Amino acid sequence: MDAIGCCDLHTHTTASDGSDRPEDLIRLAAAAGLKAVAITDHDTVSGLDSAIEAGHKAGIEVLPGVELSVNANIAKGDMHMLGYYIDADSASLNEVLERVQAARAKRNPLILERLAQMGKPLSLKELEDMSGGGQIGRPHIAKAMVRHGYVGSTGEAFARFLKKGASAYVPKSILSPKEAVDAIHAAGGLAVLAHPISLACEDEAGFDALVGRLASKGLDGMECYYSEHSLDFTKTCLAIASKYGLVATGGSDYHGSAKPQIAIGRGRGGLCVPYDCVEALKARLKRL
Ligand code: AMP
Ligand code: ZN
Ligand code: FE
Ligand code: FE
Repeated sequence: MDAIGCCDLHTHTTASDGSDRPEDLIRLAAAAGLKAVAITDHDTVSGLDSAIEAGHKAGIEVLPGVELSVNANIAKGDMHMLGYYIDADSASLNEVLERVQAARAKRNPLILERLAQMGKPLSLKELEDMSGGGQIGRPHIAKAMVRHGYVGSTGEAFARFLKKGASAYVPKSILSPKEAVDAIHAAGGLAVLAHPISLACEDEAGFDALVGRLASKGLDGMECYYSEHSLDFTKTCLAIASKYGLVATGGSDYHGSAKPQIAIGRGRGGLCVPYDCVEALKARLKRL
């Protein structure tokens, strides 16, 4: 498919753990020839105003979005919920975001405490300087660990210390999947299950059943096209989305230099999320 028909519905800016300012990311998306782009920062909507303004200037359609961390009580994986077309000024959404942000703020010092016990001290101040006021997450900690020479790469930092179940891992999310879906709906948006590969389901039957439960709680869509999805897994996602009447969406999870192997709109190179996904989201929004 030609780049004119592609979009990217999953990107991160300096408002969370991406390296590009919202306005710079939007310019990059326009320069890449994308037809639409969504900003989906972790647990914050603070980048949306400047992104939308930049979209008007650059002539690219910008979808306001967010990516909520969810506590789904799953054995190995992580669940993230994307919200699209949310009203960034929604009082109820902002109340939920403040609670999640408070949980994050409590978690970071606990991770640092564990690292210090293992002889790998980092200061919170250093992380705050790195994040420039945005939401601090594990990628900031991983980067700081590389800087201090504690690990050779951010991948090693996650594998040895930060990933779920590793020695310095501390859980963060306090929202149930239903609470996340409800918070997005209350802000006038659509709830979309992010990167299902990260759920680390044992098999397709388990994945299917999990999506079925989420659909019964009001889920609107599922991110089928994704940088880390194989063609086979994308097809599985499309079939399950269709089975439960969910909108199929997609995105790269672009983080700028924080994930240098992922290009905006293109993922690892071959990604093209069809613009039909945006049309389908709009149609669903109209029906609600
Ligand atoms: P947090 O918001 O602190 O839970 O961190 C989430 C971020 O960490 C997301 O941007 C993920 O892409 C990134 N992340 C999660 N697991 C890994 C991993 N194993 N290696 C590299 N990055 C990861
Ligand atoms: Zn991230
Ligand atoms: Fe995510
Ligand atoms: Fe993401």
